[in-house]
Amino acid sequence: MISIYEKSKCCGCSACVNKCPKNAIRMVEDEYGFKYPQVDLEKCIDCGLCEKVCPYNNEYNKKNVFEKSIAYGGWNKDENIRAISTSGGVFTSIAKYIIEKDGVVCGAIYDNDLNVVHDMVDNLDDLKKMNGSKYVQSDMKDNFRKIKEKLDNGVYVLFSGTPCQVSGLNSFLGKEYENLYTCDIVCHGVPSPKVFEKYKKELEKENNSKLVDINFRDKVSGWQGYSFSTKFESKKTFNINAQKTSYMKAFLSDIDIRDSCPTCKFAKLPRFTDFTLGDFWGVDECYPDLNLDNKGTSLVLVHTEKGNELLQKLTDVYLQKCDLEKAIKGNPSILKHLPANKNREKFFNELESNDLDTIVNKYTKVSLMKKVIRKSKRIAKKILKK
Ligand SMILES: Cc1cc2nc3c(=O)[nH]c(=O)nc-3n(C[C@H](O)[C@H](O)[C@H](O)COP(=O)(O)OP(=O)(O)OC[C@H]3O[C@@H](n4cnc5c(N)ncnc54)[C@H](O)[C@@H]3O)c2cc1C
Ligand code: SF4
Ligand code: SF4
Ligand code: SF4
Repeated sequence: MISIYEKSKCCGCSACVNKCPKNAIRMVEDEYGFKYPQVDLEKCIDCGLCEKVCPYNNEYNKKNVFEKSIAYGGWNKDENIRAISTSGGVFTSIAKYIIEKDGVVCGAIYDNDLNVVHDMVDNLDDLKKMNGSKYVQSDMKDNFRKIKEKLDNGVYVLFSGTPCQVSGLNSFLGKEYENLYTCDIVCHGVPSPKVFEKYKKELEKENNSKLVDINFRDKVSGWQGYSFSTKFESKKTFNINAQKTSYMKAFLSDIDIRDSCPTCKFAKLPRFTDFTLGDFWGVDECYPDLNLDNKGTSLVLVHTEKGNELLQKLTDVYLQKCDLEKAIKGNPSILKHLPANKNREKFFNELESNDLDTIVNKYTKVSLMKKVIRKSKRIAKKILKK
């Protein structure tokens, strides 16, 4: 039976919950707001399936993965889709292809209370709910079971999530399906739903109105200098430089991410998915022609022949093949994770007693300062080159 001895060895994928034949496991929030499995001993028959399926005990390695992934840079040709997508909007193009084959797409959306959960959609209108990175851990619920049912009935499925969520799904299924496509995102960690809840409540109090939408990566100020925007029931809307919000400062300094993230075992190549999608950070240095308009450029890494064949069939995206090493240079989270923020525990211990802005300013100053220094060094280098 599954038991969590080290929190760093549970990514919260919910594969164990989905696998249990007795429905004996539920995901329960810890004091930091991250969910971990808890077994009801009355229901458990000690079959061991939950342990077997956990990607930390038995990572299922997809077959036929390229030894060297193929890299592309590009974007969705539909300007409206590109505008509501985080990077270049390649996700929507892949998802649309699956929906047009009468398939379903499973990815992260907001529920009615702006909690981030995984859900399944089968039409282009609902697909829009998946657009945009939601920087908080998504709750998988019972989607692995639903996906298996669809796959067994011959329905095409695209699953999109963090690398560990895809790994959990692969383990849960335990075999290859011709009708399954998987797409992970470049991931440098998922923030705590408890921190997100606190931030939403603070914003609602400040504005005396219920939040109805949050966009972590609004492109009103461009893709690279993105904004954070909020919409309230009162019709008030705000957008400010994302890096000025306490929520994004916390995320970008890795202070509120899950225990498993700083030692992420899924950040590697080859990845056991069909595609990896990310922002093409560093594009100006290696392929400047792929960012002439600052409207968003996707980095697409393809890991299987099946994935590559699908990509060649897409007519609504512009894609240019790139050198893999050059393309991933500006995006370190593809291959490894930065060490844990040393103030993480202090940050969480103060979460109940102070407002987010105060705690973030107290505990992320050093790393933000480091970022400023790094940026200044980069600017100085550029000036010296001229
Ligand atoms: C927590 C997180 C951290 C990330 N870190 C990086 C990074 O360090 N470097 C980088 O290059 N890119 C990172 N990304 C990925 C990037 O922001 C884009 O999601 C990706 O490039 C796809 O963009 P798009 O324009 O193709 O489509 P979009 O329409 O923006 O794609 C949205 C896709 O992201 C998925 N998604 C959104 N939120 C979540 C979530 N909370 N959990 C799981 N899946 C989610 C949706 O299911 C959907 O498939 C991160 C994304 C998330 C959610
Ligand atoms: S051992 Fe079997 S019955 Fe018990 S919790 Fe795990 S999967 Fe469920
Ligand atoms: S299967 Fe997923 S949620 Fe369950 S213990 Fe393993 S990592 Fe955690
Ligand atoms: S950093 Fe690794 S463990 Fe954390 S959410 Fe991303 S893939 Fe999962």
